[in-house]
Amino acid sequence: MPPLTSSAPPSAVRQPCHWQSSLRSAVRDPIELCRLLELEPDSIFSHQAHRRFPLLVPREFLQKIEPRNPRDPLLVQVLPHPDEDHQPNGFVRDPVGDAAAQQAPGYLRKYAGRVLIMPTMSCAVHCRYCFRRNYLDPAFFRPTSPIGTPPVGTNRPSIANDDRLDHICRLLSEDDSIREVIFSGGDPLMLPDEQLARWIGRLEPIPHLTTLRIHTRLPVMIPSRIDECLLESLTETRLQVVVVLHVNHPREIDDDLVDGTRRLQRSGAVVLNQSVLLRHVNDRAETLIELSQRLLEGGILPYYLHQLDPVEGAAHFRVSDERGRALISQMRNRLPGYLVPRLVRELPGEPHKIPLS
Ligand code: SF4
Repeated sequence: MPPLTSSAPPSAVRQPCHWQSSLRSAVRDPIELCRLLELEPDSIFSHQAHRRFPLLVPREFLQKIEPRNPRDPLLVQVLPHPDEDHQPNGFVRDPVGDAAAQQAPGYLRKYAGRVLIMPTMSCAVHCRYCFRRNYLDPAFFRPTSPIGTPPVGTNRPSIANDDRLDHICRLLSEDDSIREVIFSGGDPLMLPDEQLARWIGRLEPIPHLTTLRIHTRLPVMIPSRIDECLLESLTETRLQVVVVLHVNHPREIDDDLVDGTRRLQRSGAVVLNQSVLLRHVNDRAETLIELSQRLLEGGILPYYLHQLDPVEGAAHFRVSDERGRALISQMRNRLPGYLVPRLVRELPGEPHKIPLS
């Protein structure tokens, strides 16, 4: 399975960056994953789940997983588990209404003054709870689907071609109520630096845009993604950059990530974090408190704690609202207010996230 989108530069023309080499060597074979972590695959791995949404995990992240522990909170986020094969009703393929919000391929209007753009649907990791996990299924890709282009192999498509970029920039120019562009995905930092710079360069002349928000999990998986080329693009733009990382557990944060986020901040970016509340991953107050404290070491403020979106294949991660509220209450008792994230849920068609606490 090719680890990069077809938009990656040919290696004969340009040497891959370190982070791109890391992507190429990511683990895709569940048997190899189990061998590296000294685990017996039989009871913890589902071939069916792997076929629906293939395993993908960078080796940097693997190093943070405890060997011989099938319940490791980092492992359960990435391992295709038999629980995915037995799902209750109410868990659907598009739980947040992306299809209905799409105005053009990869261009979603959900919130006043903001637009969600998906420049690529590739990721460095396949998170088992992801609300967009079904975008990998070719059956999901219809002409009117949120992405619009069939995936290549098991990788997700890029929408970063010139026609689509032109079309999206035209839509943005015509609506002066839009102030903020949110790059989501997939993971927008999967774009090679020159493509990302090209996107930013096309947004800058649109006078009513003030803010570029980038939602990414890639630096958590491969901290070397925060490299000089990326920092240069973010430093040079007139747009205020907001980077929203996706960290769920304190052990996902290492010194390299802390160092990278410090450099992001020196480039002028505001750095926040959003987590998903996940059973057997971060559904204990001690874990969430430690996560907030560890984030602060990197100057990162906790922004949202999301309730799980009810996507097919992820029901076993669900935590009740009651439990979520109790966790937030315990965090409030022990942390300053700025380290307590907002517990929220996204509902299709709503103009903002719904606060739950
Ligand atoms: S990195 Fe984000 S978009 Fe990609 S699979 Fe994980 S949660 Fe989903």
